[in-house]
Parts: sequence; C-alpha cells; structure tokens
Amino acid sequence: MASVDVLIVGAGISGIGAAYYLQREHPQRSYTILEARDASGGTWDLFRYPGIRSDSDLHTFGYEFKPWRDEQAIAGADKILAYLREAATEHGIDSKIRFRMTVTGATWSSADAEWTVEVKHADTGQAETLTCNWLFCAGGYYRYDEGYTPRFEEQERFHGPIVHPQQWPADLDYAGQRVLVIGSGATAVTLVPALAETAAHVTMLQRTPSYIMPLPSKDKLGNRLRALLGDERGYAVTRRKNIIQQQTIWRLCQKYPTAARRLIRNINAKMLPEGYPVDEHFNPPYNPWDQRLCAVPDGDLFKAIAGGRASVVTDQIAAFTEKGVRLESGRELEADIIVTATGLNVQAMGGISLTVDGEPVRLPDTIAYKGMMLSGVPNFAYAIGYTNSSWTLKVGLLCEHFCRLLGYMDARGYDTARPEPADPAMPTRPLLNFGAGYIKRALDQLPRQGDRAPWLTSMSYAGDVKLLRRLPVQDPELRLSRSQARERAVAGPAAEVVA
Ligand SMILES: Cc1cc2nc3c(=O)[nH]c(=O)nc-3n(C[C@H](O)[C@H](O)[C@H](O)COP(=O)(O)OP(=O)(O)OC[C@H]3O[C@@H](n4cnc5c(N)ncnc54)[C@H](O)[C@@H]3O)c2cc1C
Repeated sequence: MASVDVLIVGAGISGIGAAYYLQREHPQRSYTILEARDASGGTWDLFRYPGIRSDSDLHTFGYEFKPWRDEQAIAGADKILAYLREAATEHGIDSKIRFRMTVTGATWSSADAEWTVEVKHADTGQAETLTCNWLFCAGGYYRYDEGYTPRFEEQERFHGPIVHPQQWPADLDYAGQRVLVIGSGATAVTLVPALAETAAHVTMLQRTPSYIMPLPSKDKLGNRLRALLGDERGYAVTRRKNIIQQQTIWRLCQKYPTAARRLIRNINAKMLPEGYPVDEHFNPPYNPWDQRLCAVPDGDLFKAIAGGRASVVTDQIAAFTEKGVRLESGRELEADIIVTATGLNVQAMGGISLTVDGEPVRLPDTIAYKGMMLSGVPNFAYAIGYTNSSWTLKVGLLCEHFCRLLGYMDARGYDTARPEPADPAMPTRPLLNFGAGYIKRALDQLPRQGDRAPWLTSMSYAGDVKLLRRLPVQDPELRLSRSQARERAVAGPAAEVVA
C-alpha cells in the first residue's frame, strides 16, 4: 500500500494549484506536498531583490479558482506570496506540505504500480523513502541553489560587492552608490528603476537589447468590472479579456514581426528623451516574442532613464577592473556595486533522477506527452507553464487534465498510464522553441517534443483548452493498464490500449 496516492513535489504556485485541483476532483485520494525549502511560494519567496514583481497581470497569473482582489494587476512578490499562501490556507493545503524535504530520486515498479521516492531531510541530511501511485513534479524550472553567472575576465580585481539577484544580501546598502547591472532580461529591467530610486546612478549594461514594453500596473477596466460585478465575476471576465489580449498580441507579433517591431520602437521612442539612441539600446536582433517580452509597469524603466537616474550601455565586457569594467569598445564603466542579472540555471523535473523498472531515465531520450507526461515514464506528470503568457494558465489546464485522467482510470480499474509513441521513429525537436539564453543552454538536458499531437508542447491557450479540457483523455498513445498487484485484487483484462 503506497504511503500516498499522489506525491506532489514543490510548494510553489504550481504545486499548491495542483493540490487544489486534486482535492476538489478526487477528495478520496491522499496526497502530500514535499518542499525542499522551509517556506512555500517557490520563486516568489526565493527572490528578494529590490522591486521584485510579476511581469504578467495577476488576473491571468492568478488561479482560475481564486480572484485577484488587489487593484494592482502587476504586483510585487509580497502580494503574490500572500495570495498563494492564502489559497493554501483557505483549502487546507498548507497542512499537507512537508518542508525541508528534497526529493532526489524516484524508482517505478510496474508490478506494483508504485513509485518509491527517495527524500533527503535538510535538517538531518538523512534519507527517507516514501511510496506513491503518482508522482506530480511541480519543481519549477531552475536551480534554487545558484543563479547563472558567466565567467568574466579578471572578476576578482573588482573592489566592490558583486551580487547575483538570486542571492540578494538583505543588508546591501546601495543608497548613494553607483550600481552597474549586467543584463537586459526581466530581472535587470525590474531592478534598474527600483535601485535608481536611491542609488547615485544605475547603469544597465547589456550585450544584446531586449524588447521592453510599458504596461499599466493597474487594469482600470478590470478594477471597474470588479466594482460592478463583484470579485468573482469581475475577476472571471477580466481574466478572459486578458487571455484574449495576450494571445492576440502574441499571434500578431508572430504574424507581423516587422510591424510589431516598428510599433514597439515607436512606443519606446515616445517614452525616451528627444534624440535618445533608441536603435542602439532597444532594437533586439530577433523578432518580438521569439524571447519573452519584458514588461515595465507604467514605463518605470523609461522614466528612470528620462530622469537621468539610470542609463543603458550596449557593449561587451572585456574584463573587470578595480573600479568597474572595461568594455570591448575600450570604454570604462565605474561602479561601486556590480549586479550580475545574467539569468538562471535551468533544472528540469526538480533535479529528480527517475528510474523505470530498473532502467534509468535520460530526460533527453523522452518525449513530452501533451506537455505534461513523458514517454516511457508511467504515472509521472509535471507542471511546466507557458513562456509566452502567464505560466499558471497552462498549469491550471494540465492539472484539470490530470484529474480527468485519474477519473477515467478509476472508472475502468486501471492503475497505470504510460505514454508511448505509436511511431518509434517519430522525428523530435527541442521541447521549447524559445530563444532565451537560459533555455538554449539547457536544451540538451530537457525532454524533447515530437512533430505531431499529442507529442507537441503547445504554447497556445486556445489549443490547450481544446486538448486538455475538452477532448477525451483516452488516447491510442497512452497505454492504460492494471498492474500485477491490482490484477491479484481485481479480476479483468490485463491491459487496454484505448482506441
Ligand atoms: C523573478 C521571476 C519573475 C517571474 N515572473 C513571472 C511572471 O510575471 N509571469 C509568469 O508567468 N511567470 C513568471 N516567472 C516564471 C515563474 O517562475 C513561474 O511563473 C512560477 O512562479 C513558477 O512556479 P512553480 O510553482 O512552477 O515553480 P517555482 O516557483 O520554481 O516553485 C518550485 C518549488 O519546488 C521546490 N522544489 C524543486 N525541486 C524540488 C525537489 N526535488 N524536492 C522538493 N522540492 C523541490 C522548490 O523549492 C520550489 O519551492 C518568473 C520567474 C522569475 C524567476
């Protein structure tokens, strides 16, 4: 008898969401959430740098089942954390979380339809094993122990602190200091205006520009709808409006990249001072949405630049010096503090090593099934959200699908679900068609996707609503069966490939 029916790894926004759907749809099933850290919230608890906030609106980043009531649609980590912890408390999920427990490995036995999961206690360093029928990995997509910092020439020469945003020192005093932020992604554009409030000056040093779009931090229409229709209905309508808006913008950018590029450039130029070199600093070499577009609430970054409190330099670092950095162009930038906003280290599936019936699973040899399971790996589901829209939109849909699959299996007495491609020679391609540096660096450690449904990892909410919410769960390429253990208990056919 397994310790629990479903073991959820990770108590971030995805793990708490998965627990909600599971207990709503399958209240008879037992589950536990194992969390490596000593607090819930994942990303929103880990990052402590000044200004940390979402770049999605919370009407789509929030859960479908819990209205976002704050008038700020783009919100700081403290509000997001309070929201998701409130969701956990309201539904009794917090009592199911076991903290300081890292899942390191999991071994599947087909005979017993059971995962034996190895867990390490942070306090004692001791190992424990738990068993479960399903393993649901909501471990996010990056390493928590350290962010990504490329090796810079002569880094040790710099006299001041060098800080990575993932390990922001609580006592770092940057008031009146010259801060150099290396990077041009979401973290850099969040940090720069926040630091510029008290720093002497902030320079954002980028190798390559990103697309940066001002977004209103408050959704005026959304707030009016909430006042008019009440929290629940107002939230539902705003959420729908924003989903359509996000998908339309993404599609238009894909279809008309030149026009989208021109439009973004014009918006940027309007927010910057006369004669500002927009094309030097805000003109990426790729098309809009080939990488995640950075949103800046109420144009705060542009305001800091226009106010002279921040500036952008586009160049490459030749080497660090005692006083700052020397650039390829020969220019020197002086700083008291250097912040390396250079990204994340991707980690797939919570870093858990999987073994199926004695065979170790190599993730790059697996193919993602419906963006939520892996070929050849039974009773394993994972939560990876959208990269072109709010993460949680996809996670909600795949949790619904996961629950429907459990219901289907229950009704027919199956205890094992194993995706297997009908065509073993199906061509495969990278899991994510997304140009961000941290994804590119990790592609060879990730599962792959196929060239046809259900082996595609879709980035389309409308497509996923159809696939994950509306279409039947049964599928010829999802083998459902009864284990020998279940067979002994129940009479009936040994296996079914559902047509
Ligand atoms: C600074 C920042 C801002 C972002 N802003 C947005 C945004 O505005 N919109 C958006 O859509 N996305 C955003 N993202 C992406 C964001 O990470 C996701 O949207 C979302 O928060 C991920 O939630 P999650 O629960 O899936 O993973 P995480 O938040 O990463 O949580 C995973 C949890 O699992 C735990 N865990 C991992 N492995 C194990 C293990 N082996 N054993 C036990 N526990 C484990 C971790 O400790 C962690 O608590 C942002 C990311 C960052 C870094």
